[in-house]
Amino acid sequence: MFKPVEQNPNFPELEKKLLDNWYKNGVVDKYLHKNNRSKKYFSFIDGPITANNPMGVHHAWGRTYKDLWRKFFNLLGYQQKFQNGFDCQGLWVEVEVEKELKLKSKKDIENLIRASRKASIAKFVQLCKDRVVKYSGIQTEQSKRLGYFADWENSYFTMSDENNYMIWLFLKKCFDNGWIYKGHESVPWCPRCQTAISQHEMLTEDYKEVVHESIIFELPIVGKKNEYLLVWTTTPWTIPANIAVAVDVKLDYCLVRGQTDDLFWVAKELVDSVFKGKHNGVIKTVKGKELVGLKYKGAFDYLPAVVEVAKNNPKNFHTVIPTDKNIMPISTTEGTGLVHTAVSAGTEDFKLGKKLGLPMIPVINDDASYMEGLGFLSGKNAKKHPELILDYLKEQDKQGNNCVFLIFRYKHRYPACWRCKAELVWKVADEWYIAMDRPSKVGNGRDRSLRQRMIEVAKKIKWMPEFGLEREIDWLKNMHDWLISKKNRYWGLALPIYECHKCHQFTVIGSKEELKEKAVAGWKEFDGHSPHKPFIDEVKIKCPKCQEIISRIDDVGNPWLDAGIVTYSTISKDNKSKPLYLTDKEEWKKWAPADFITESFPGQFKNWFYALIVESTVLEDINPFKSVLGYGTLLGEDGRPMHKSWGNSIEFNEGADKIGVDVMRWMFARQNPSENMLFGYKKADEIRRQFYLMFWNIYRFFVEYSNLDKPVISNTARDPLNENKQNILDLWIIERLNWLIKSSQENYKKYDAQTVALESEKFVSDLSTWYIRRSRDRIWVNSKDQNDKNNFYKTVYYVLVNLSIILSPIIPFLTEIIYTNLTGEESVHLSSWPQLNSEFKIPSFVETSKGKQNSELFADMELVRKIVEVGHRVRKEKQLKVRQPLAKAIINLSASQKFNQKNYISSYIDLIKGELNVKKVEINKSKREDIEVEYNTELTNELIQEGKVRDLIRQIQELRKKQGKKPFDKINLTIPLEFKTFTDFIKMKVMADKVSFGDEIKL
Ligand SMILES: [Zn+2]
Ligand SMILES: [Zn+2]
Repeated sequence: MFKPVEQNPNFPELEKKLLDNWYKNGVVDKYLHKNNRSKKYFSFIDGPITANNPMGVHHAWGRTYKDLWRKFFNLLGYQQKFQNGFDCQGLWVEVEVEKELKLKSKKDIENLIRASRKASIAKFVQLCKDRVVKYSGIQTEQSKRLGYFADWENSYFTMSDENNYMIWLFLKKCFDNGWIYKGHESVPWCPRCQTAISQHEMLTEDYKEVVHESIIFELPIVGKKNEYLLVWTTTPWTIPANIAVAVDVKLDYCLVRGQTDDLFWVAKELVDSVFKGKHNGVIKTVKGKELVGLKYKGAFDYLPAVVEVAKNNPKNFHTVIPTDKNIMPISTTEGTGLVHTAVSAGTEDFKLGKKLGLPMIPVINDDASYMEGLGFLSGKNAKKHPELILDYLKEQDKQGNNCVFLIFRYKHRYPACWRCKAELVWKVADEWYIAMDRPSKVGNGRDRSLRQRMIEVAKKIKWMPEFGLEREIDWLKNMHDWLISKKNRYWGLALPIYECHKCHQFTVIGSKEELKEKAVAGWKEFDGHSPHKPFIDEVKIKCPKCQEIISRIDDVGNPWLDAGIVTYSTISKDNKSKPLYLTDKEEWKKWAPADFITESFPGQFKNWFYALIVESTVLEDINPFKSVLGYGTLLGEDGRPMHKSWGNSIEFNEGADKIGVDVMRWMFARQNPSENMLFGYKKADEIRRQFYLMFWNIYRFFVEYSNLDKPVISNTARDPLNENKQNILDLWIIERLNWLIKSSQENYKKYDAQTVALESEKFVSDLSTWYIRRSRDRIWVNSKDQNDKNNFYKTVYYVLVNLSIILSPIIPFLTEIIYTNLTGEESVHLSSWPQLNSEFKIPSFVETSKGKQNSELFADMELVRKIVEVGHRVRKEKQLKVRQPLAKAIINLSASQKFNQKNYISSYIDLIKGELNVKKVEINKSKREDIEVEYNTELTNELIQEGKVRDLIRQIQELRKKQGKKPFDKINLTIPLEFKTFTDFIKMKVMADKVSFGDEIKL
């Protein structure tokens, strides 16, 4: 006897009960250690989740993948680490702590504890750590709720000493190669976070559509009367930083007479869009190169900082320059074709300036306020008050100094800080970089730059989807040097760079031990603390060149350094000891490169994948992982990104309780990972109905009737094919299952969960709508053939037990319920992948045109099902009720439609007879391509009677259902007298004790 199965249970509640059991009774623990002695290894490295907020449903997508492949390889008997990771350090955490404490600026942070900057920073850093610990706890609970099995006690944290010091080792190696340098460049900058945003962090999704006041301004040409350059900018706050105006030497430029008789230079192709027909003619047209060298005056030339730069650079200050198309291409679809070049306030401007040897005028401070030396602008915020510049220029205009040609609102995509969403600015800053193109100073790699090595490493990786390789290579070929420093921040890797303020040499420390050895002061104050601000900065060393006592630079590290090192820092003997990379490299090599990682790809080509590749290339010149599965973005079911304010976002716990995580996991598994996924409650309902409940109902049907029929299902029934099988349905479904076992194993191994899920859906549908449907007459009161009954139950048992194992990686709860109830074993997650016994008849696999594998029996059964499909359609068209038996069906098949297995033909015909409710089936050959079914519709009295009896039985069954009768409940029945001759048959079919006769049906 099996435990009875509820018809419509509360699945999320069932899931919670199972979770409780798994953790209380040590199932998870047994699972983690199941293959400890195995010689086969499956190494998975978890991309650390930011422990900063509770999970959303989008996190559950990736975490389903992470769990399902580990569950699969566990079934296959591979030894694994099962470690989960949390990303801890960086701006993202700082921003949330600032919000919590309502801090507005750097100053607020440094005054957390009055009059002590150090104590304030120590407190702030501690609060960041606390937040990470808090949210890692919440995310752990949520992950458990997802049915995700991992070594939760020993997750790795990127803030750990092991992780931070391993990055030091990496940076030291970069330093030894000569790849670390300090650059003084114009960088993208967040004025709120007051820190640089590296190119790697500027993702397309962080651009937002905004409207800015843009201006076409006039620059009077020196030595010409009333002749101006027309220049357009969408960032008027940068005009005081203007150094030059760039033109394309090959482009045509026109001198146009405006309505006031002033003359303006504009690119020929843009004359119409700038003047909109309102001008007094084109005076002349020249190539851009004719304009190069012209000098002009600017509206801010009197500001002290500008005066200073002009004085020191008389030759190239405020000059028309030729652009370099590769650095700053000039558009002929918008603007004027003459480009404002503010060397200090733009990446392209800076690069072009560097190439041409132009000076720069730094104009803003870290918070985007104008610097000293800029007159009335100094101290005012450039980003918050763009009107400062526009108002000033308008005022100048009024006073007769032509400045403004046109001011108009302009909508464009503009980059924002990926953490706080503030609009970025560009400013000059001293930042630290890892050079991508410098040849190494050491070893045999002298001739190969880091960039070249990384490209080679990236090619060793299997990218899924395949375009991943192209995307990564494209990035590796075009990226700037890696900006690894974060100024003005507190919670992050302490970059181990020590710079001498006297001789300007710098050195990099590669380990805690090295620091201790070189420390000349502050070790005692630091000892016992993690390598974070402020305590790490107590330690001083001597400048290796001039012996001056020097300090660590103030910057912290780019957070992607933290996640990129994990192949080296996290693999340890038991997930909690020292990194094997340092203690036992041979053992480490068993786990590295990792076999598999999976992450959502937007962003990761520039971030995690990239960081893993850089760090592994520098340390070992190997790929950090062998295969990567990237997946898209989770959107609401309305196709828009999930946003709280749009009402389409789903918090994880809420989703889990409403949908149930099994259904959620199934939705993720069946999704094509290379496409964005639409997710919501409606989709969840569809999946629940179309697959999940169908599976459940098969299981319920099996348990309910086998508890009634009490068949003998011995352990050997796990291999039912050695039994005497007569029924074609049993043979067919077992072949179908064996095929599914084989194909699922192959597809899981290819990291293709979608095909596993979709094929399983087809299987479950076949099982329900054909196998069970056609087998109903074989069980319970419908049949007296005990042998056939037994075969039915053994077959379904075999199917359900093995199907549970196959699907347990995806839907760990439902399969656990089914498996444990049927087998009495402890857990499906402690079982092994089904072995196909080669002694039994394994289906002969046939390649079809669709590439799908198929056996002769599959093909035959498909033909049977096509025939009955047409047969049903014809019955419907002719309005011949299915319950009315007909004398004969005549089936016409084309030459290509034939049954392969001749010895089963009578079984196929029986199936058709049963399904179409006909007494005889006649099969003919026809010349037509499609299947035709015709019926002999002549009804004898006998057939009419039989139809009526069937109708009656159906009505009685419905009444039984309505009255809540169980299949085994006996009833007393009243039926019309005309059915008297069929009393025994009806009694048997509807479980009636007594039958009496009356006008209407009663029970
Ligand atoms: Zn920011
Ligand atoms: Zn020095």
